Amino acid sequence: MQDTNSTASPLAPEWLAVPGDVNALHAPLWAEGVNRDDAGELTIDGITASELKAQFGTPLFVMSESDFRSRARAFKEAFDSAFEDICGGVDVYYAGKSFLCTAVASWVADEGLRLDTCSGGELAVAARAGIKGPDLGLHGNNKSDAEINRALDMKLGRIVVDSLDELDRVAKIASSRGEVANVMLRLTPGVHAHTHEFIATAHEDQKFGLSMADDSTDQAGLSAAEEAVAAATSYPGIELLGLHCHIGSQIFEPDGFALAAEKLLGFLARMQEKYSMTLPELDLGGGHGIAYTPVDTPRPPAEIANALAAVVRSKCAELGIVPPRISIEPGRAIVGTSTFTLYEVGTLKTVRVDAPGGTTGQENVTFPRRYVSVDGGMSDNARPVLYDADYSAILASRESSAAPQLSRVVGKHCESGDIVVRDVYLPEDVAAGDLLAVPGTGAYCWALSSNYNYLARPGVVAVRNGSARLIVRGETEEDLLNRDMGVANV
Ligand SMILES: *Cc1c(COP(=O)(O)O)cnc(C)c1O
Repeated sequence: MQDTNSTASPLAPEWLAVPGDVNALHAPLWAEGVNRDDAGELTIDGITASELKAQFGTPLFVMSESDFRSRARAFKEAFDSAFEDICGGVDVYYAGKSFLCTAVASWVADEGLRLDTCSGGELAVAARAGIKGPDLGLHGNNKSDAEINRALDMKLGRIVVDSLDELDRVAKIASSRGEVANVMLRLTPGVHAHTHEFIATAHEDQKFGLSMADDSTDQAGLSAAEEAVAAATSYPGIELLGLHCHIGSQIFEPDGFALAAEKLLGFLARMQEKYSMTLPELDLGGGHGIAYTPVDTPRPPAEIANALAAVVRSKCAELGIVPPRISIEPGRAIVGTSTFTLYEVGTLKTVRVDAPGGTTGQENVTFPRRYVSVDGGMSDNARPVLYDADYSAILASRESSAAPQLSRVVGKHCESGDIVVRDVYLPEDVAAGDLLAVPGTGAYCWALSSNYNYLARPGVVAVRNGSARLIVRGETEEDLLNRDMGVANV
């Protein structure tokens, strides 16, 4: 293999192809309305990257409102139509933890979706956006009494109870208020899915949920899940709506969801029979995947919806039960692709790294890897550090006719692990002052952002009909110093 830029670098992971055209936008990675203009600059709804930089600065989260809305609508429509004849449609709860602010919460409501929260803070955003309690769910494995009270104050549609311990607390708090809490039970069906595979296990060793394994409590033969159903049915403070599961994240294939649905339906039928009651709802959770790199191949919502509908239809027929009302909780699949992060390039350096190569393919030869530093990093995108997540990047401020060069986009933090895009081919003439865009940063980036190294968290701009406006302003130095009590208190 030759040490040239037109062949794959031996330092690159196997899945990463050398792009035929380093300027091309791979459509599945980008929001609606993202293009290059005639001058070669990246644009969204006709607004150029450099205009965004001039008006709002970098780093900047740039979100397409129409993209967000159309993905939200696509989930609602696909699931409604697949389940129409089974249970009259599906309730789609947008998972607010992936990205939440009042503007986004209001789009969610506009598009006919509901909203899932998992803290008092997220409930506060929902309340400020004017979302009513019946359209809200509350998750979490350790809800505080204050959060449970707040959920009851807001008359939440559902509190998803995570443990026997919490079931007791919710029941006590509701009873002491003379109220009844709407409760779903989060079960762990022993199906864990990620991307292409799922694994099925009998026992659960994780903090979330009530185990369905038969020996999971002290009560001989009763699973924690069954014990919770029995208790919930007997507590006057609890209205048991149904069952919930969430099997993982960034899932492409429907099989994991289908297996979880079958397990929960079987359990639901058994509980209805044994305790002579009905569980009218079943939530199959979120975790639908998106494309972060060209090798990711998520399925359209209709494909997942149709596959699941077939399973629910046949399993309910086999069990002889009336199908429960189905709900789902997509987060990433609605907001992830709506957003890219715009960064400015600063310091550049190239290192040479040993790898097998040379004329025999076996000699140790050195190959170049270029480090491209940007003005943000792990404080605005922690996913590469947390999960080894892969991303993609493109030169945004201009086109280039230079050859592709294996590059690593890194942040400005004091950590060598501060990587934004581990491996990507960027044109070899990328220089300080250029703008880079990293697509697919709508979910779990801003939401997980920090002030590490006293960096101000970036703002979020929403683009609609050719104009851009802030939906969350970026932090200022004053914000950073606001909570510091000052030397007078030392
Ligand atoms: C995180 C989470 C979701 C959303 O997951 P995505 O991967 O963003 O779709 C849904 N439900 C629950 C319970 C979650 O914890």
